[in-house]
Amino acid sequence: MQANAINAAYLAAAALFILGLRGLASPRTAVRGNLLGALGMFVAVLATLADSRILSYELIAWGVALGSLIGAVWAVRVQMTAMPQLVAAFNGFGGGASALVAASAVLTADAVSDVPAVQLHISSALSVLIGAATLTGSLVAWAKLQGVMYWQPRGGFFRLLSSGSAVAAVVLGGLFAADPERMPFFWGATVAALVYGFLFAVAVGGADMPVVIALLNSCSGLAAAATGFVFGNNVLIIAGSLVGASGLILTRIMCKAMNRSLWDVLSGDLAEAAAGAACADDIYAGRVKSTSPEEAALLFDTARVATIVPGYGMAVAQAQHTVRDFANLLESRGVEVRYAIHPVAGRMPGHMNVLLAEADVPYDRLYDIDEMNPAFGETDVAVVIGANDVVNPAARDDKSSPIYGMPILEVDKARTVIVIKRSLSPGFAGIPNRLFANDNSLMLFGDGKQAVRELTAAIKEL
Ligand code: NDP
Repeated sequence: MQANAINAAYLAAAALFILGLRGLASPRTAVRGNLLGALGMFVAVLATLADSRILSYELIAWGVALGSLIGAVWAVRVQMTAMPQLVAAFNGFGGGASALVAASAVLTADAVSDVPAVQLHISSALSVLIGAATLTGSLVAWAKLQGVMYWQPRGGFFRLLSSGSAVAAVVLGGLFAADPERMPFFWGATVAALVYGFLFAVAVGGADMPVVIALLNSCSGLAAAATGFVFGNNVLIIAGSLVGASGLILTRIMCKAMNRSLWDVLSGDLAEAAAGAACADDIYAGRVKSTSPEEAALLFDTARVATIVPGYGMAVAQAQHTVRDFANLLESRGVEVRYAIHPVAGRMPGHMNVLLAEADVPYDRLYDIDEMNPAFGETDVAVVIGANDVVNPAARDDKSSPIYGMPILEVDKARTVIVIKRSLSPGFAGIPNRLFANDNSLMLFGDGKQAVRELTAAIKEL
């Protein structure tokens, strides 16, 4: 195909990517956005395959078949709660692929790339540096979230090693770009970047990994964009830049919603802060009231407005369908039901939205934190299902709390709060929650799905 036709197809693909991203900004248009993005990628792949410089269609076909098979099986089998580690693995392989493609361009420079030599060498060094670090960083993120790696080294020597590998990678990469004949610089930079990616991610606590995954997602995009410069491939440059920018925006949103700086996340300071937090016994002793499904059901006899506050525990219990049935029952009894969604409830951005959408909960019942907080005063019963940190009043009232300043859903302002969880164990931040000891709180202990099912049955008996 003519170069002009290929570039026109790339332009169309880029426009589809941008429209797709725009659609993904709202749950109402997200499915269409996803399809537009996929269509853009399809157009980009077809245009690339039409390039006369393709050496072997057979090899590409094998790669596509094998990759599609592994990806499809993995994506179908993955549990919703394991989605962050799947994304981590995808980011890692994306970064690794960019690094491999750039390395192959360096090894066969004249044959595959027709960009100016200076562009080829600078961009391939960048691609290998970012891609290699993304690969090992993402694999560590995967291992920590999968629960197969717990090591979290700290201390001056470790930080020295980590910064040393980063400096070595950049210096060696720069030396290679300045003198491309010296291949040992290139391989040295690659190894140093692999080491840095490992050390950078291993320092972060498993619980903070979702933020790191968003950052690594951005890095995988930047690596792809750099690879685009290696070949002068416009669609790779545009797609990589879009991924890079959106990953950074997501990282920022997550840090803001947790009221933590990226530096705090990367240096793993949450664990230290949690160790100094108030003791659970001081907060809970003699103050926690537990209830039964039958007793809790009575509250809904007179309730006009009920607010459901889902959290990570709802995802663990896979209680979204049961929660929807519970809400439907309340609505059939004339109760107005709202769902209060915190931006970092669960373990990945949009976690609660995805689960509730899967259970066909209408979008117009979902309220974000800014809409919901002023309305908690008019809520008769707030039902907290597996949420903990995102409803912890310490974030609002206790300056010594490690989560102080994090925006929370102010459920404690509802007339009565029913908290469904299995025990008084802390959530992600590892700190106790004084909401559980409030005068207007009742604890309904049990697995989220089972407890909501029993509550629903008890309301039917009323
Ligand atoms: P939390 O992690 O604070 O608490 C979850 C609670 O769920 C636990 O206290 C646990 O208590 C309960 N739980 C676990 N399993 C079940 C079950 N089967 N049935 C019922 N309850 C269960 O969750 P939140 O959603 O409130 O907060 C999310 C936290 O994660 C925040 O601190 C946020 O900053 C952090 N985070 C979020 C990210 C995101 O993108 N969403 C990314 C990174 C971090 P028990 O064991 O007693 O049942």
